[in-house]
Amino acid sequence: MPELPEVETTRRGIEPHLLNQRVIQVIVRHPRLRWPIPEDLDIRLSGQTIVAVERRAKYLMIHAEVGTLLCHLGMSGSLRLVPADTPAEKHDHVDIVLESGQALRYTDPRRFGAMLWTHDPLNHQLLSKLGPEPLSPEFDGKRLFDCSRKRSMAVKPFIMDNAVVVGVGNIYASEALFKAGIDPRREAKSISRARYDKLADEIKKVLAYAIELGGTTLRDFVGGDGKPGYFQQELFVYGRADQPCKVCGSLLKDIKLGQRASVYCPRCQR
Ligand SMILES: [Zn+2]
Repeated sequence: MPELPEVETTRRGIEPHLLNQRVIQVIVRHPRLRWPIPEDLDIRLSGQTIVAVERRAKYLMIHAEVGTLLCHLGMSGSLRLVPADTPAEKHDHVDIVLESGQALRYTDPRRFGAMLWTHDPLNHQLLSKLGPEPLSPEFDGKRLFDCSRKRSMAVKPFIMDNAVVVGVGNIYASEALFKAGIDPRREAKSISRARYDKLADEIKKVLAYAIELGGTTLRDFVGGDGKPGYFQQELFVYGRADQPCKVCGSLLKDIKLGQRASVYCPRCQR
């Protein structure tokens, strides 16, 4: 599933090809994504120039002069630039044809993604209740501490709650908790401000590093040799159940927390 670093990598990849480009046509081959693509999307977007490409949480916001295309990649979606006359394959659901002769092509085998039109993206119901961006100054140990005082849930699902902070998926939550030395089962409200300061720092570090490397999880980001990305080789706990901890040698444990697999080191994480 594309996580925040993959979405940011996508944004950085498509932005230079979209900025100041006029849209010639929107071709929708399969409107049924998680929600239907608006029937009038071609009428609304064609003829307009793209003025900005931003990201909020895992949503891409492609701003036209009037209105914004809100995209979510769901479980298996991807966006890439192709020559506009490239034949569409089975899962290529949308082309946004640009005056450059390229098309922004949306591909999504599982069709859990979204492509919606809005005039006020940040107040859209999908975005309006989201917590701060993890790499912004609004997210820090104080934020985690303040949000957690009445929460008796485990700390791992707590930091994965989009209302607390966005974009901390299972990989990043697992790795940041390991680096901060915090047991993922610990009650959110029982953790000190100092430990939350450390945890917020580790969340920022792991996400910034993943963005720098272009993400971890998308097949598109696997190297041409078929080997997993560099980041994957550097994981300390995620996906390493029953293997020795790279720090202390103890066998890593695997538990379920909030329906998610959670690997941790019983010695390094308290
Ligand atoms: Zn350990």
